[in-house]
Amino acid sequence: MPTGYLYETHFHTAWSSACARSRGPEYLERYKRMGYSGIVVTDHFWRGNCAVDRHMSWPNFVEAFFRGYEETRAAGEQMGLSVFFGWEETFDGDDYLVYGLDKQWLLRHPEVRGFSRREQWEQTRLGGGCVVQAHPFRDRDYISAIHLNPIYTDGIEVANAGNTSENDTQAMRWAKKNGLYTTAGSDIHSAAQYEDAELMGIRFPQKLHTVQDFVEAIRSRSEHSLQVLEGRFDAPLTKPRKAVWEHGKTTRRVRDTSELFGSA
Ligand SMILES: [Zn+2]
Ligand SMILES: [Zn+2]
Repeated sequence: MPTGYLYETHFHTAWSSACARSRGPEYLERYKRMGYSGIVVTDHFWRGNCAVDRHMSWPNFVEAFFRGYEETRAAGEQMGLSVFFGWEETFDGDDYLVYGLDKQWLLRHPEVRGFSRREQWEQTRLGGGCVVQAHPFRDRDYISAIHLNPIYTDGIEVANAGNTSENDTQAMRWAKKNGLYTTAGSDIHSAAQYEDAELMGIRFPQKLHTVQDFVEAIRSRSEHSLQVLEGRFDAPLTKPRKAVWEHGKTTRRVRDTSELFGSA
């Protein structure tokens, strides 16, 4: 087994994500047995598949949204597993993992619900957090186009257990071409989902004691390795089947595969 400290970066609980099947504490025995040091809870936030009623007042929404994380953290403390808070926000089918902001920040920033991609990144950084684009090349029926965001993010989730190896290979090639920091996560939605070996994560040489340590590791592009199945990024490189848009200072359509992935 490789050395270092392994963290799950993409994790959903039934309290706060409408599509998740298990309460946070139900997952933890397995993560402990698999040698993880911690997990970050990233439930679907305001514009995603959130389980919390959006008609509540903002403070009540924030309180309720935190329950999935809070009960997971309480269970994690009992068994020596670090549990950190984050969320997953959705734009036009492109999803972002936002790490390192807390309840007080959310209460003070109700405008988070209307952020552009750029505002999300700038305001998260100002608040001491970071943003990672989740599964950028995911191809599903509900996704009408691929939206890439190499500028207003601190990293790219190049491996996602809910993806195909083909889409992860595209993500890895794109991240490499653009010099982007890489992460991996399971995007787990139920305690029984995936074979043990399919669980993903990111491994650092140093132990992370707080979510700020986690953010600092990503923002400083800390040395790391990815926990993924052997050969995960070795699928034949294919052209995305949907239109690809790249968001930056301007938004543009990318038609040329070599522009995305470089030459082989
Ligand atoms: Zn989900
Ligand atoms: Zn997710």
